[in-house]
Formats: sequence, structure tokens, C-alpha cells
Amino acid sequence: MAKALNGFVQKRIPFQRGIIAAACFLTGSISLVPRTAAQTPRPRATAAKASPAPAQPKLVVLLVVDQMRADYVDKFLGQWTGGLKRLVAEGAWFRDAAYPYAATETCVGHATISTGAFPATHGMVANAWWDRKEQKLVTCTSDPDPNVKNIGYAGATPKGADTAWRMAVPSFAEELKFQASGATRIVTFSLKARAALTMAGHKADAATWFDGGAWVTSTAYGTQPFIEEQAKSHPAKADFGKTWALSLPEKEYWYDEKALGAVPPEGWDLTFPHPLRGKSGVSEPDSAFYEQWASSPYADTALTELAEKAVDALKLGNSNGTDFLAVSYSSVDYIGHEFGPRSREIQDILVRLDKDLGNLFAHLDQKVGRGNYLVALSADHGVVPIPEDMQKTGADSGVLHLPEVQQRIEIALESLNYPKPTIARITGSDVYFAPDVYKKLQADSNAMSYVLVAIGTAPGVAAVYRAEELHDRPATQSPTLRAFAYSYFPGRSGDLFILPKPYWLLDSTPLGKPRSYGTGHGVPYNYDQHVPVLLMGFGIQPGQYFQPVTPADIAPTFAALCGITLSSRDGHALAEALKKPPEPRATSQRARPKPASASAPNTNP
Ligand SMILES: [Zn+2]
Repeated sequence: MAKALNGFVQKRIPFQRGIIAAACFLTGSISLVPRTAAQTPRPRATAAKASPAPAQPKLVVLLVVDQMRADYVDKFLGQWTGGLKRLVAEGAWFRDAAYPYAATETCVGHATISTGAFPATHGMVANAWWDRKEQKLVTCTSDPDPNVKNIGYAGATPKGADTAWRMAVPSFAEELKFQASGATRIVTFSLKARAALTMAGHKADAATWFDGGAWVTSTAYGTQPFIEEQAKSHPAKADFGKTWALSLPEKEYWYDEKALGAVPPEGWDLTFPHPLRGKSGVSEPDSAFYEQWASSPYADTALTELAEKAVDALKLGNSNGTDFLAVSYSSVDYIGHEFGPRSREIQDILVRLDKDLGNLFAHLDQKVGRGNYLVALSADHGVVPIPEDMQKTGADSGVLHLPEVQQRIEIALESLNYPKPTIARITGSDVYFAPDVYKKLQADSNAMSYVLVAIGTAPGVAAVYRAEELHDRPATQSPTLRAFAYSYFPGRSGDLFILPKPYWLLDSTPLGKPRSYGTGHGVPYNYDQHVPVLLMGFGIQPGQYFQPVTPADIAPTFAALCGITLSSRDGHALAEALKKPPEPRATSQRARPKPASASAPNTNP
């Protein structure tokens, strides 16, 4: 082990840092060296003789599987043979990882993984929230800057303008680029802007997502020729006419052929195989085809291929610094919403993702070198079983109709002569009142209690919290109050917060209309909070770890292995899974070991 470490140290002292170290030596004092963003000197570089600088990974790879519940690993591990299996077999598996906050949604989870901070710090409190100033719903990535526009690959002309400008702290990747030697390239992919952009941060070499049948980015990030080439040579529409069939023998599937309460995408029924042919009878890719494609393993494969192309085209992991590559696989989320967690569709897409990740790791072994890259895999949130399915157990489960809650509040305040409408918006758990109404309620305890009772007695409601209870993360014995406080960002979060009972789905479907999806997520219960955290490769001590951790610990762990500092201390380095550096030796006269070759097995400390 020590042998390999020294090998890496020798190999890895970057040219630029060598110059800085020389400058320090010549001036005789580190403080005389001008400190700039690009070349902040590291004291340990000057002290290389006394204690060798720790090596760093050549590439940090962040993988997020949107809506992947932690228990999918426990349940289906035996059916995997590829990358998911390898992460468990060769990596550190944190089996009790969970978000501690309430807003278990995509933008929030990705921002948390990316920054190592909770939403109370990073400010991405939901996929979309009510903007009180603009009096409209804004998505977490919508950018009102008139100079920003989304741009499409392969001739696409997407709408909108998206960046990570609303994220209040830098991503790990941005910090790495800023604090390290400047050689860091940042490349992210997802089907969703809110995943690709939060993982990248405010600037990146490429941040790419999928919109309206095309790969897109925005002018804030710019385009890459290799993505243009891939978008032209391997467009999603080339999968038109393919079929998603079961990959394992039928007896291997745990659940019924038809998931109870499922709502499949248009053009599909509830049983395999699922044809990617759009609306019935069409001969060209239509919007239904792209919905089917996004809900199929073919989208995961397309993302994997883009990631591999990025490694090749930009030679990620082969510069004198540490590069950053992130992929968020979105299809498990779409399928989970449609078919629920207890479905053959979820089980099968994970078998396929396992193969894709196996291919990706094989590619990285070849191009970057086994053990030279560091991987983390996690999820942005979990999911609740479809209520109709859960009811089979006899447990209390149902649908909490948010429009009904809204009606109840309006009626309660109408009886107290508040001018209608009193509600601006209910989105997720967050209730936003019309301008000045909440201030008035805070000074009118009678009206406030009317409102709290009106919400609290709606079917499926467990509790209601007020914004003033959540400021500054108050000390509390209530795990749910604490969860809402960890999600609370003043100005952006709502005025009141609705906690459903366990296994009650928050639903915004207008009253009287059928639900257009099977199930969802976004509440502070373990089925939404408990996700996998798996680390593998450079610096990681394999094993199973049972202590409670959060996905906010991933970025600090990356930071520890790359020797940088993040602004937030919400997350903590997962020290137990880090290989211990060798003890400094009093006798350094031992022969210098040979540098490890790029394809050496996973022997670095
Ligand atoms: Zn979702």
C-alpha cells in the first residue's frame, strides 16, 4: 500500500505546483507568493521532503440514480453482475444513508449531494417554488438573465434559460476547479436540467440535459463538439421502434405482471414488453415516444455513452489535475412515478442500469486506470408505494388532495372576512399565502388557529408547521419539525408546511380529475429519505457501513480526498470508509518504489 502511495506522489506532483513550490523555496516564505484563484499554493507542496503530499484521484465520478430507494440494493443485488454489483463488492456501502430534511425532490437532492449542504444552506428548496416578488412559480434552474438562453445540439431550438444561479453555494466541482491547479474539467449529464446543472454548479465545461427530443445546454455553459457529434450520430429517435422486454427469466421477478395503481406512459399498457413506438399508429417519433424513451433503459444507455464520449474526447482523468464527471440517471424516477417501486419495470431497469454502469467502469478502467478514479453513487430521494397498492397491506394509506386543503383554507378565512383568494399557491408541502395575508394571520391568532384546524382536519394530514417555527434550525425532539427546518430557506420556502400521514401521497391533481401518475415523493419519511450511498475506487476502504450518514456527506468526502475545503459543514467526510494513509516512517532510506502503472489494480491507499 505504502509502495503505491509513494508511486502516486511521484507521478502526481503537477508541473504548475512544482513551480509554485520552487517559488516558495526561492522567496523563503510561503506568504510572499501571490495567492490567486488558479494557483493557491498548498503548504504541503513546499514540505514535500518532510511528509509526502497525498496523491489525489485523477477523476471524480458522481453517479445519481433519480428515485433509487436504498432497499433496491438489498433486494436486487443478487440479480446484478455489472457496475451496481461492483460498487457493492469493491466499494464502501453505507446502508443507513438518508436525507435528514423534508423536501425530498430532485433539485434539492442533487444540490445537496453536489454541495455537501442541506437546502437550508444551498437554497434549492424544491423543484419549483412560488416567487413572492414575481408572483409566479419558478423552477429551481430558471434564469431570468436576458443574456442566458438554452441552446440545442443537432439543430434543436429549445425554449427557456436554465442555470444553477439560484444555488446559494458552489458545487464541489466548482470548488475543486477554483481551489486546485485549475486543470479541472467539469462535465455533467442528465435527462433533467435540475440534475445536470446542480451537479455542475454555476459554470462548467459541459452541463447537458434532454428536452423535447434533443440534448441541450445553455449559453452560460456552452457547447462541446463531441456532444454535437454524438447527438447527430446517436439521436434518441434512433431508438424509435425498439422494444423494452424483460431481461431476466420471468420467475426472477418479484412482483405481479401488472403493478396495482400504475399509470403507464401514453402508448404503453401495464404489461411487458413495452414498445417504443409513440402513440399507437404513428410512424415517426412523437412526444409520446420521447416520454416512453425517457421511461426506458435506452435513455440510461444514451447517458452512459455520452459519459464515455466525454472521457475520450476531453481525456478526462488524464490531465495534471482532478477532473469531474457526473451522470444523473433519470429513468428510474419516471418509471417509479408511473409503475411504483413494487414493479417489474423498476426491477428490470436496474438490471439494465447495472450493465450500463459495468460498461462505464470498464471504460474508466481502460482510459483512466482502475484505482485512479473515485466514484460515488447515490440517489436524490426515494419514493412511496402506490397508495392503492399499499392499501392491500391493511395499513392506513391514501391520497392527500392539496386542492381540497386549499379550499378548506379559503372557506375558513372567508368566514372571517379575509378577501379572496387568500392562497397564492400550494406546491408540494408548502403553502404560500397571497401578499400580506400571512403577516395578517401572524397578528391574528384566532384566524391562524382557524387555518391550522382547517388544514389539520383534512384527510391524510398529520401536522402543520408554521414558517416561524423553522427559522435557524431550532433544537427539537420532533424529527419531522427538524426535517422541515433543514429544508427551510427564508424568502423561498412557504408560509405553512403540510406533513401528510405516513404512506399518504401528496397530490395536486385538480379535484374530480384522475391522477396522471402512480406515486410520488417529497416528504420526511424514510421511504423518501433513505437512499444508497456507495463509494468506490481511489482512497476508499471497501466494506459495509451501518452508521447513519446523509448524502450531504459525499461532497465533503470528495473534498477530503482532493484536499480542498467546502464552505458548508452540514455534511461530513465519511472518514470510516477512507483508507488510512501509511504512518510516516522515521527511516526514509528505503528504496523508492516504482510508480504504479495506470492500469494497476486498486492498490492506492
Ligand atoms: Zn420524481
